[in-house]
Amino acid sequence: MSFSKLGLMAELVRAVSDEGYTTPTPVQQQAIPVILEGRDILAGAQTGTGKTAGFTLPLLQRLHERKLTNKRNQVRALILTPTRELAAQVAESVDTYGKHLSFTSAVIFGGVNINPQITKLRRGVDIVIATPGRLLDHIGQKTVDLSQVEILVLDEADRMLDMGFIRDIRKIIALLPGNGHTGRQNLLFSATFSDEIRKLAGGLLHDPVHIEVARRNTTVETVSQVVHPVDRTRKRELLSSLISSQNWRQVLVFTRTKHGANKLAEQLANDGIVSSAIHGNKSQGARTKALADFKNGEVRVLVATDIAARGLDIDQLPHVVNFELPNVPEDYVHRIGRTGRAGNEGEAISLVCIDERDFLRDIERLIKREIPKVVIDGFEPDARIAAEPVFKQRQQRTPRAGNSARGSRPEACATEKNGSQAAPKPKAKFGGKKPQSGSAAQPAASHRNRPQQSRPAQRRSEV
Ligand code: AMP
Repeated sequence: MSFSKLGLMAELVRAVSDEGYTTPTPVQQQAIPVILEGRDILAGAQTGTGKTAGFTLPLLQRLHERKLTNKRNQVRALILTPTRELAAQVAESVDTYGKHLSFTSAVIFGGVNINPQITKLRRGVDIVIATPGRLLDHIGQKTVDLSQVEILVLDEADRMLDMGFIRDIRKIIALLPGNGHTGRQNLLFSATFSDEIRKLAGGLLHDPVHIEVARRNTTVETVSQVVHPVDRTRKRELLSSLISSQNWRQVLVFTRTKHGANKLAEQLANDGIVSSAIHGNKSQGARTKALADFKNGEVRVLVATDIAARGLDIDQLPHVVNFELPNVPEDYVHRIGRTGRAGNEGEAISLVCIDERDFLRDIERLIKREIPKVVIDGFEPDARIAAEPVFKQRQQRTPRAGNSARGSRPEACATEKNGSQAAPKPKAKFGGKKPQSGSAAQPAASHRNRPQQSRPAQRRSEV
């Protein structure tokens, strides 16, 4: 199967082959012909499947074929994404695949000066790639005209809803011209399908073609997954050790909080590992720089909150580490979807302490498989340590070593006293030990006794 067989015009086939892609991915094979016919689609496609080209290529062709005269400020295609990073990446794809055609596009997101965006929109653009909030600012200032939009794409719709954009999305949709075969074409992409997504789709899509390219809520097959049970206060030490001993060159590490991301990036830097943090409190300039430095190899470790879990496309990213498990199990799937993209092999490593046993159980339930547990020699969890509520820890802030407010109970942070000086000595390499299912942190009894309030149901991580 080649791209031209899908009905794509020569200019687009050429742009795709310039990228070195010869065979369309399954989502591209399914979506491209249907979008070229002008149909609406409801697509269940995980990140890393090639879905961006799956909608961008036929979108460009549709705009080219219809060749309507574009009045000043009037946008012909609108692509909404949940995050700024994803908007920037999609905009890059629009430029890449459209380079032999003559469309203009603008990427619109917050956190940066609005004026250059206004100038660009004033000159007139065919395609706008936007996050909902900033787009509404432009709508309010009447610097964008959406009354002629022919194609609407909602990319990672589930994430947009998770991030609380539903009202913004509805407001934006209300400003678009009507749908149906003679009007606007709507393409909705989502990794998961909640009732809310189905409701949104029901009101938006006209007789959609359903496309499903990966089983829902399952992790991509090319990602190997492992859990390293470890005490909560030895995670940083273990991470440094793994990065150095395994000579990982490019590692995306997830933490639950912005503060945790900053702190970890600093600590790794102190260990001599060049690291940056990326999260919602950083200026857009800092976020863009951190990502660019990471992509071009200047930064070895990028520590991120879940803001980076979706949509980031880093070529052949080999390692994703969950320094802390997400408390919303779906986020695990999105996090590890940053590796193993487009058929490349990837490894997802989770450092799990006893406090996170419930999170791990929920994740395994969601992905319908048990993740192998491998205890690294020298980092065996201390069986005397009891579970602590994760969110209470966050409020209390972990006391410094030697200054524990937690009484005489044996503390894993005893090792932290020496942690930064002691050379970590992992005796076992990956695969050196047989996966020991269920060998994660003990003791189970104390875990069972965990206070109920320790885990607010489905509270999303701070990003
Ligand atoms: P996406 O799921 O759209 O984020 O795409 C994931 C990655 O796959 C990106 O790096 C794309 O450039 C790449 N990609 C897209 N289409 C193909 C293809 N047909 N063959 C190989 N790689 C592709």
